Amino acid sequence: MTKDKDVEGIDEHISDFNRFYILTILYQNPAHGYSIINQFKTQVKKEISPSLVYPFLQELEEKGYVKHTAKMVGEKRRKTFELTPTGRELCNNLFKRFTELVSTAFETSLQTCTHCKTQIYKTVHQETINNTEKIFCCTHCAQAYKQKQKNNTKQPT
Ligand SMILES: [Zn+2]
Repeated sequence: MTKDKDVEGIDEHISDFNRFYILTILYQNPAHGYSIINQFKTQVKKEISPSLVYPFLQELEEKGYVKHTAKMVGEKRRKTFELTPTGRELCNNLFKRFTELVSTAFETSLQTCTHCKTQIYKTVHQETINNTEKIFCCTHCAQAYKQKQKNNTKQPT
């Protein structure tokens, strides 16, 4: 794994979904290792190995992104991990970067109203005009578009 000084290794965490998701769990709540594994399983519907979780938590702690508090639960010493302010900042940057990446992809899936050119998230109004399917953000735009087409054809060339 490359460890250059790209904004505190942000892209390194984004490229590894497991790590990325562990961070989002910690961002929501302080959690102990076992709980992270459980939350991962419920939310991602995939098993995550403790041999991946614990070294990662340790790595985060060494870098100052995470700190832990230890509590005795019965015979066991249980560590609860939480993000430090630096860790939260890392996550904020991470989510921002992630949103950028996703929205670039998402925008290409947006459709455009034939009339007003507004980007629409899903087809609201569709009409077949001159054998072509046209997409509109609303019925008003469809009406206006048809009116315009009519006016255009009326004009002598
Ligand atoms: Zn429109």
